[in-house]
Amino acid sequence: MSNKWLVSIIVICLVYLLLGHLTNLRSYRSLPHRDLVGRETTLKIEIAEMKKADVENTSDEKQLYRLSIERAKLLAEIKIRQFYVDQLITMLFIVALLLVFVNRLRKKQNRLATTKEEVIRDMSVHIENPREEYIEEWELDSRTRDGYKTKEEAIRWLKSDPMLTCDYCGAQLRSTYTGERESIQLVTFYKNVPEGAKDLRVVFGSYWFPKHANELRCSQCGKVEKR
Ligand SMILES: [Zn+2]
Repeated sequence: MSNKWLVSIIVICLVYLLLGHLTNLRSYRSLPHRDLVGRETTLKIEIAEMKKADVENTSDEKQLYRLSIERAKLLAEIKIRQFYVDQLITMLFIVALLLVFVNRLRKKQNRLATTKEEVIRDMSVHIENPREEYIEEWELDSRTRDGYKTKEEAIRWLKSDPMLTCDYCGAQLRSTYTGERESIQLVTFYKNVPEGAKDLRVVFGSYWFPKHANELRCSQCGKVEKR
């Protein structure tokens, strides 16, 4: 069922429930059933008698009108109880609310990965535990060549990989559950400590290193690619 219908149902149910609780339309709501029926019967007789007496003066007419309204309210209350209207409306209200919730979930599910851009956007990159390494100063350039200064840059590099497109059908490749996922790791490089010296933790810098998933599967044709 579409959300438009469900929302209409919810609004109608809500109006019904609120009218019953907040206005005096249902002033007999809490009256015991026996009293309700008894009162209705009394009124019925009273009204019939008044009609038989052929009311002519205005105050009697007004009284007849008032009694008729009261009887209508009593009758409505009796019918509402007889057909379990309150319970049904409450149930309908809850079911409609649940369906709206389910619809939203389903929509969210569908929204996941419909286009290639969305697959890339939703791709979750695992963050590994940070690592520390001691190196010589001359090694620094070569060791940090594949690293990035910021996490965002490393993730962007992973997501812009042209290898993520299937070379057979052109659809998006995704990391499998069995293989290792795309990940990034922060590595901090320290200056090697000479023999006998105290480790003063001389920092060269920290870099984010991206790592490809080692097993990818095409979301469309199922082709598996290992790296
Ligand atoms: Zn494919």
